[in-house]
Amino acid sequence: MEVSEICPVCNFETETIIHCLISCGLARDCWQRLGVPVISPGERGFIEWLEKIVGCDLEVQVEEVVVVLWHLWFNRNKIIWRNENGSATGIIGAARNCLTAWREAQVQTGEWGGRPHLEEKWVKP
Ligand SMILES: [Zn+2]
Repeated sequence: MEVSEICPVCNFETETIIHCLISCGLARDCWQRLGVPVISPGERGFIEWLEKIVGCDLEVQVEEVVVVLWHLWFNRNKIIWRNENGSATGIIGAARNCLTAWREAQVQTGEWGGRPHLEEKWVKP
């Protein structure tokens, strides 16, 4: 499959990791809703941005930032493979559901170490 260098989400800018995950309109909309600052001109790379986010005392948790990053990438792939585009609301909602399911899968309770009877959506590999 031939992959274009142009971002499939906005169909306008060259797709880079920073554009795709931070500064593209849809990503920017997600970060704005979560109160996460987008990349500033002085920052050169994705890791630098992520380190700043981790170091900031933001209302949003680092786990939520990571799971939103994953869903932005998943949305980008859905556009390429299935021609389905998501909204910021949909991406944040799906990310939060995923994070809740992951957190529930981490819970170990009871004397046998079994999990409570929660609907299981995510299992450790
Ligand atoms: Zn874009």
